[in-house]
Amino acid sequence: MRRREPEDVRRRQLIEATIDSLAEIGFNASTLAQIARRAGVSPGLVAHYFGDKDGLLEATLRSLSLRLYRATASRLRVAHGPRARVQALIDANLAPEEFDQRTSSVWLAFWGQVLHSERLRRVQRVYQARMLANLRHDLRDLVAAGEVHRLAITIAAVIDGLWLRSSLSAAGETDSVSARQVASAFVDAQIAAAPAAPVDGPRMSMPLQTHAGHIGGRYRPTGGETFETRNPATGEVLAAIEIAGEAEIEAAVEAARKGQKLWAAMTGAERGRILKRVADILRARNDELARLETLDTGKPIQETSVVDVLSGAECIEYYAGLAASLSGEHVDLGPSAFGYTRREPLGIVAGIGAWNYPLQIACWKSAPALACGNAMIFKPAELTPLTALKLAEIMAEAGVPEGVFNVVNGFADTGRLITRHPAIAKVSLTGEVGTGKKVMADAAGTLKYVTLELGGKSPLIVFDDADLDDAVSGALLANFYSAGEVCSNGTRVFVHERVREAFLDKLVARVGKMVVGDPLDPATQVGALISPDHMEKVLSYIARGRAEGAKLLAGGGRVTANGLDKGCFVAPTVFDGCADEMGIVREEIFGPVMAVLSFADEDEVIARANDTEFGLAAGVFTRDLARGHRVIAQLQAGTCWINHYNVTPIELPFGGVKQSGLGRENGRAAIEHYTQLKSVYVNLGRVEAPY
Ligand code: NDP
Repeated sequence: MRRREPEDVRRRQLIEATIDSLAEIGFNASTLAQIARRAGVSPGLVAHYFGDKDGLLEATLRSLSLRLYRATASRLRVAHGPRARVQALIDANLAPEEFDQRTSSVWLAFWGQVLHSERLRRVQRVYQARMLANLRHDLRDLVAAGEVHRLAITIAAVIDGLWLRSSLSAAGETDSVSARQVASAFVDAQIAAAPAAPVDGPRMSMPLQTHAGHIGGRYRPTGGETFETRNPATGEVLAAIEIAGEAEIEAAVEAARKGQKLWAAMTGAERGRILKRVADILRARNDELARLETLDTGKPIQETSVVDVLSGAECIEYYAGLAASLSGEHVDLGPSAFGYTRREPLGIVAGIGAWNYPLQIACWKSAPALACGNAMIFKPAELTPLTALKLAEIMAEAGVPEGVFNVVNGFADTGRLITRHPAIAKVSLTGEVGTGKKVMADAAGTLKYVTLELGGKSPLIVFDDADLDDAVSGALLANFYSAGEVCSNGTRVFVHERVREAFLDKLVARVGKMVVGDPLDPATQVGALISPDHMEKVLSYIARGRAEGAKLLAGGGRVTANGLDKGCFVAPTVFDGCADEMGIVREEIFGPVMAVLSFADEDEVIARANDTEFGLAAGVFTRDLARGHRVIAQLQAGTCWINHYNVTPIELPFGGVKQSGLGRENGRAAIEHYTQLKSVYVNLGRVEAPY
């Protein structure tokens, strides 16, 4: 078993004291000082660990949710079949310990506060989303697709309702056993009454279709050459995709030219209203789109159902809101003249996407482009063409005029036709550094604007005063989310030598528990890599790390057990004892491979962190905020985090410096990249000429 650090024990003790306090005297009377007294420590120490009362309450709610999550996960692991798994959820949520007086009064105290505290609400949202995702996953095999969402919500409501009634009734109206019986009978009756799930076809399959490009508001089949897109978790072919050649690019440009005129003539508020509808439809179709993204990318449904589609929807909503406020400025030039600027769209712009966040990238590029009055031609990566096509369908459904958002598919040749096209004013690429350079060179021929979101090898620095649990959480998020296929990943983890051992103990224990598996299973935390070629590349880096003398602490190979042998699964891998000059420390691997390095001194680690051609992201974990800001100010990176990693709110600009890119996506900054200013001088007097 993992040795518990004194700090762990102290945090646990304070959380327990909080639970006792909430159970006995309720929310309002539970103050930091009172909880500290109960735990026999000073209020200062509580503040040291948790910041303030809100921080302590959030940690307590997280701990309660985590306990329930673990109990659910362990029941799900031994449940066979979809009905048994639904039962496992009921049993975990209505277990005797959840009906215990102390636990239920604490849950009640929290639910009462959730409406008033954004921090608590975030924790609760994750808890609810997880329950629904689990239910939906299993109900898909039990009832027809149209019934899944409704039934999942109904079952969740019955579980919550039974628990709530029982917790509020003084007379012990129900106990755990009878509540579970009621819920169970209810679920059986509902499943029996609902239309059944189709019996044919394995879970991961979908009908094989040929998809043409989506041009001018509809699919335009050409019957031309196609390529296949596959599910990297199974190798199964998902669809055939028509390759766009010169004729299709010309058709897209023509459609965009017409659409853009109409679109730019609308007011910003009108464009915003339509884009808001796009965001609403994306949200409403979250589950279906998340599932498609999981099939196409191999990323776990646990991620795609709460991040990929929603982050895209948030981005579109954000720019829909900004659209009405786009404006130029008035410039006073004295009594006889003034000037003003008009912020105008560029015209037709292009987006070229990478394969790791296909739908999100399509949204991140199209949202500011369209809000500013441009039309877009978007080319997804050839490995992941499916969800951008869905976005095009949704745009049409929401009322975006024909030709304003077009999707063409293909390989680099198709990309080149776009980047060299004289009618296209700008190209925004997300991809590798080498591709970025080629795109920039091609764009130079017609003097296009470029935004380049490229690769990285970002540093994550853990100082000796950091909260080590948080720092480990940060390092896990920075390396293993999306199986490590995230451009901003902090894959060079510099840990202060005084805490290196403790950090590694915690890290290795948590990595050991990570669940690699079927990406469609909500319990899976690490899905498949994007393709066999990419998996081989990642495995070759792991072999290289070993050969270079790095010490393997976790993972280190392919995962094939439990039916994963047809997919591209690699275990989360941690190397310790890494040196700055090793290949695994210098080059972007884009897989689940973390390199841990140690350091002794602030100036030293800053210099080493900056010693790279890349500059996409960086992170610092320290309790000393002055140091946090001081170090971040010296790091050469476009996107930085203090005491967190890889969170990318749409409101903050995102992008890189050095070889990691040019320009910014998201935030108000992106507006600059999708508009041009026209300066207008207005004379109010006579024109004096010396002639
Ligand atoms: P690639 O650079 O291989 O491809 C990116 C896109 O460019 C694809 O659609 C590709 O087409 C297209 N393309 C390739 N060559 C050309 C060309 N000469 N002209 C025009 N288009 C071209 O990147 P990946 O798809 O492999 O994505 C992984 C990379 O993306 C990593 O380096 C990662 O760091 C980076 N990335 C950066 C992000 C950021 O925001 N900074 C975010 C996500 C990823 P096709 O593949 O279809 O042939």
